[in-house]
Amino acid sequence: MELKWNDAEKLTEWYEKNHRTLPWRENRDPYRIWVSEIMLQQTRIEAVLIKYQIFMQELPDIASLAKVEDDKLMRLWEGLGYYSRARNLKKCAQVIMQDHGGEMPHTYEQLVRLPGIGPYTAGAIASIAFNEAVPAVDGNVLRILARYCLVEDDIRSAETKKILQDALLPVYAHDGVRPRSLNQGLMELGQLVCVPNGAPFCAQCPLAENCQAYAQGRTQDIPFRSALHARRQQERTLFILRDGKRFLLHKRADNGLLAGLYEFAGIDGHLSEEDVRKKMEEKQIAVWHLKRLPDAKHIFSHIEWHMQAWEIRTDELRNLDLPEDYTAYTKEEMALAAIPSAFKTYIDYYGLRSH
Ligand code: SF4
Repeated sequence: MELKWNDAEKLTEWYEKNHRTLPWRENRDPYRIWVSEIMLQQTRIEAVLIKYQIFMQELPDIASLAKVEDDKLMRLWEGLGYYSRARNLKKCAQVIMQDHGGEMPHTYEQLVRLPGIGPYTAGAIASIAFNEAVPAVDGNVLRILARYCLVEDDIRSAETKKILQDALLPVYAHDGVRPRSLNQGLMELGQLVCVPNGAPFCAQCPLAENCQAYAQGRTQDIPFRSALHARRQQERTLFILRDGKRFLLHKRADNGLLAGLYEFAGIDGHLSEEDVRKKMEEKQIAVWHLKRLPDAKHIFSHIEWHMQAWEIRTDELRNLDLPEDYTAYTKEEMALAAIPSAFKTYIDYYGLRSH
């Protein structure tokens, strides 16, 4: 079973007539398309819209991205999660500056060789910016094809992905294919009509006539997706150290979870009040006042943090003998630091940011 040419054509026309106006569709600048595709991975479109506009104002081209300071980049990415995406964008921009004279390569083959650009992103840039006849297959496209072709196997498996991609490929060899509109049509259909959660809107779908899952009333149980491994649960204790004016922040290591971002000091495990006092004593930090703050939970893709937090009022933070990855910041300075949303409960508790 494969996507019929007639249906590919209907989907292409549907997109050309009905598509939404989105900021990255204002022109065909491959840089704008690239950044939007990376931002939209694993992030809802509503969350991306405003962030994207600000990002484009601050870093309007590859050259500005290649030389942006890491802290500024992290701030621009704040709230979108998966920060390694931003770091990889910058690395890739640097390679484009060095090896391609600052100009985004024009073909899928060249794009897919760049660091951080996989087959989906290369396909999206090549087709949308340069109208190259290549697919851009992501989870949305796999879901549509699994339903259309009634493929019941696990959509997470490599074999199923291959079967579904093969079902799509023949239409790109057709003379009349308009890759730019076809690929964006698939993306738009997956976001608005053949949706992942809840029932798809088949009555509005240009593929409905030949969609097998629709014909057989199976749209709710296809695609089948095997369960992911359970997330690791991790207990954390945060020490929110402050003096009259400043809060203590720790800059995380440059690799691993939340790499290079700022956080409140903390350790693994949950501590009693007595243990917190002992810990401060070990560090020779005077505890003037100790207060337990509300608990918080943050879910990452593979790990869940269960946080208990203690506010610790102490002496002038700047007088403490601190390791170099710890810095005392005023509220105003903290508003500019890239603190990930994992700490939102405490950011909000202290009103440390206006958004
Ligand atoms: S007819 Fe329904 S299930 Fe089939 S592709 Fe369209 S929206 Fe998805």
